Order: sequence, then C-alpha cells, then structure tokens
Amino acid sequence: MSYLHFLIPPQKGIPILLFHQILPKDPSVMNTPPELFESYLSFLKGEGYQPVSLSQLGKIVTGEIPKLERAIYFTFDDGYLSQIKYAYPLLRKYGFKGSVYIIGDKLKEKSDEQTGDEEHQYADCSDLRNLDPEVMEIGLHSTTHSPFSKLSSKDMENEILKNISLCNKFKLPFLPYFAYPYGSRPGSKKQLNEMKTIFKNIGLKAAFRVGNSVQKLPVKDLYEIKRIHISGFDTIDNLKIKLKRGKLKPF
Ligand SMILES: [Zn+2]
Repeated sequence: MSYLHFLIPPQKGIPILLFHQILPKDPSVMNTPPELFESYLSFLKGEGYQPVSLSQLGKIVTGEIPKLERAIYFTFDDGYLSQIKYAYPLLRKYGFKGSVYIIGDKLKEKSDEQTGDEEHQYADCSDLRNLDPEVMEIGLHSTTHSPFSKLSSKDMENEILKNISLCNKFKLPFLPYFAYPYGSRPGSKKQLNEMKTIFKNIGLKAAFRVGNSVQKLPVKDLYEIKRIHISGFDTIDNLKIKLKRGKLKPF
C-alpha cells in the first residue's frame, strides 16, 4: 500500500497525534518503540511539519490565530516514565512540542520502584516539574482513570478537581487542558451538557477525545477535540495515511 497515500486527499485541519508508551520493547497497539517514534519525527521534520505549543494549539482551534502551514501536535496519555525518558528528548532533538496527560492517583514525588519493570512505571513529580515547557507541557487526565461514560456528573467534577489539587500539591505546572480517560464521554446528551458546564465552570480550556480524525478548524466544540491514535504497528506509510484522514480504513 506504499503509494496509496498519494491518492488520498488531505483533510484540512490540524493532526493531533496520540501516543501511550514509548518503550524500547516490542511494538504493540499501546507501545511505540523509541526508534519507530524517532523515524516519525525525522519524517515529519523532513516534510516541513511545524511545532506548536499547547496554548498556540488552544488558539488555533478557536481560530484566534491562524494555523501554521503543516502544524502538528503530539499528546501522550497517562504520564508514563517512558514518555519522559524516551519521547521527551526525541521531541527536543527534532524541535517538536507536545504534552503529557497525567493521572492524579499515580503522582508520586519520587518513584521508589526504579528497579522494577519500566513498563508499569509512571513519571515521578520531580521529572515532571523539570520538563522544559518549550518541549513538553502537562495536562490533566483525571484522578482514577475511570471512563467518564460510567460516572455521575458529580464524580466527573471530583475527578477533575482532585486531579488539579494533586497537581498543585506536587507543584506541577499544568495547563487547563484535559484528555478523557479511554476517550470516553457520557452517552446521553443531558449528561454530556452537564459535564461541559462543569468543565467550563472549572475553567478547562479544551478537552481531547480520540475520534481518529484530522481536527477540522475552527473547532465547533472545544471539549470534543479529535486526536489520531498512533499504534506501535504503524509504518511511515500508515502515518502518511493517518495524517491525511486520521485512520487507515476509509470508513
Ligand atoms: Zn489514559
């Protein structure tokens, strides 16, 4: 399928990529090994893709500032150690920017299990505080990582408020952007609206779902920003297709 991408017309908008683990282990749907991740960055740089910061992205999606030619953004859910240890230095090396979405209950000042398997380790707070915000910023990903489709409005509110208070407790410089755990949102229109009112009252600027689509501009609903999930099995050709239509399959 290597030339298929030439046949696909690009969607107008901004690709916002979603990654989970960046571990030097076998690729999986949730793990992109660092060499593969670096090959994406090298390709994207060669193609003239440009970094934006989270605040710039926030303004691009509302139409406050124009989109840069070939702007791209990287998001990393869950706050794994591998994202800081492997993805962060590579983003810096290639001049791209992104953000990591952290789970309140996983925050620790200093991880005491550094001898354990990297696979299950989360970044500790001293690592997160030391991130250069020019490369990697911090956003919210709830407190317990429960799917929001299963929570009451009150519980959703508590998930965000506690996430914020834990960030404050550990002095983490987070920005008011949220990634839904599992991309999950309430099924009913009523609860969805209640949730969005809560987000607004808390002061969340935007929320990221999955959606597997290039986010069109300007965004109609800032709490429904679409990201493109990149799997550890995605070749550069797959990436080219996903940059154009967000997913490999046409429908
Ligand atoms: Zn998650």
